[in-house]
Amino acid sequence: MDNSYQALSMFDPKASTILIVDDDRAMRLLLRLALEWEGYEVLEANNGEQCLAEFAKSRPQMVLLDGVMPGIDGFTCCQQLRQLPEAQDVPVLMITVLDDSESVDRAFEAGATDYVTKPIHWPVLCQRVRRLLQAYWDTLQLQAQIERERALTLQLEAANQELTRLATSDGLTGLANRRYFDEVLAREWRRAVREQQPFSLLLCDVDCFKAYNDTYGHLMGDDCLESVAKILAQSVHRSADLAARYGGEEFAIIMPNTPIAGSRQIANRIQQQLAYAAIPHAASTVSTVVTLSIGLICVIPEQGCTPTAVLAQADQMLYHAKAAGRNQICAAVQSSALAICNRMGEIG
Ligand code: GH3
Ligand code: MG
Ligand code: MG
Repeated sequence: MDNSYQALSMFDPKASTILIVDDDRAMRLLLRLALEWEGYEVLEANNGEQCLAEFAKSRPQMVLLDGVMPGIDGFTCCQQLRQLPEAQDVPVLMITVLDDSESVDRAFEAGATDYVTKPIHWPVLCQRVRRLLQAYWDTLQLQAQIERERALTLQLEAANQELTRLATSDGLTGLANRRYFDEVLAREWRRAVREQQPFSLLLCDVDCFKAYNDTYGHLMGDDCLESVAKILAQSVHRSADLAARYGGEEFAIIMPNTPIAGSRQIANRIQQQLAYAAIPHAASTVSTVVTLSIGLICVIPEQGCTPTAVLAQADQMLYHAKAAGRNQICAAVQSSALAICNRMGEIG
C-alpha cells in the first residue's frame, strides 16, 4: 500500500481491502458477504501459501486468517506474514475454532493483532474489523506525519545552515565577511587572553588595485579578488584559522595559537602562491603581476587590551609594507599586548 501522505489524506477505512484466508469455502462465502455488506473490498485465499502470495500481490489492509488449515496453518502463516516488511503493521485477525488458552497464546506470539472464535458472532466480528482498520490507518497517518515533520526539520536545518552561510560570508569571494570576522576576532581574542597563547593577525591589501580596475575593468577586478581570496583560503589549514574579506581589496587572517614563525610561514606561502598564479597586472608600479602587501602582528594577549588595538597594529604593519615599496611582508612581534594598547593610545 502507498502510505504517502497524499494517499492517506484520502483515507476512508471503508475503502479498505481485506484478505480472507480459510480452507472452508462456505466460511469464505459468509465472511465475504458480511464484509462486502460493510463496504469493504474482499480478496480470498484458501490456504497459507495462497495467502502469502495474494498478500504480496494485492497488499490488503487487513487479513482474516483461519487458524486451522491444511498445509501451512494459520499460526505459521501469520508468523511468515510478519516477516514481510510491508506486512509488519497490517492487522491480522485470527478466526478459529480453537479457543483454548494455548491456541490464543500461540496466535498472539505468531503476531496476530486480535483473535475471534468460531462460531462467529457477526456483529462482534464487524466491530473488531472496523476498530482494527481504524487503528491501522491512524498508525499509518501518524507515521506519515512523523515522516513529514522529519523531512521538514531537515529542510529547515539546511535552510538555517544556508542562512548562516549567507550571513557570515562575503558574496564575492566566499570568505568570511567583515561582520563575522569581527565576531570571531573578539571571541578568539578572549580565548587567547584566557589561555595566554600567541595570537597572530594578518592584514593584506592588493597593490595598485585601482590601476588594475582602470586597466582591466571592474569585472576582471572582481575575478582577481576571487583568485586572491582562493589563495588565502588555501593557505590556512587549522580549523581555528579564519580568512576574511576585510573590505574592498583588503583581506585578513586570524590565526589563534600561532607564534610568529608559523604566521610568517603562512604569509610567505600566500606571496609564493600569488607569484605562481601570476595574474598579469600591466599597470602595477611594483611588478608585472598582481602582488600583495602584508602586515603581520603576533602578540601574547593580556587582559585590558582590546583586539581593536591589535588590529590597528596590524594595519600599521601593512602601512609600513606599502610605504617600504609594496609586495612585501612587514611583521612585528609584541610580547606585551598592553604595550600595543598603550602605543595605540598614544597614536590615537
Ligand atoms: P595600494 O597599492 O596603495 O593599495 O593602491 P590601491 O590602488 O590598491 O588602493 P586604493 O585604495 O587606491 O584602491 C583600491 C581599489 O579597490 C579601489 C576600488 O574601486 C577597488 N575595489 C574595492 N572593492 C572592490 C571590488 O569588490 N571589486 C573591484 N573590482 N574593485 C574593488
Ligand atoms: Mg590596495
Ligand atoms: Mg586598500
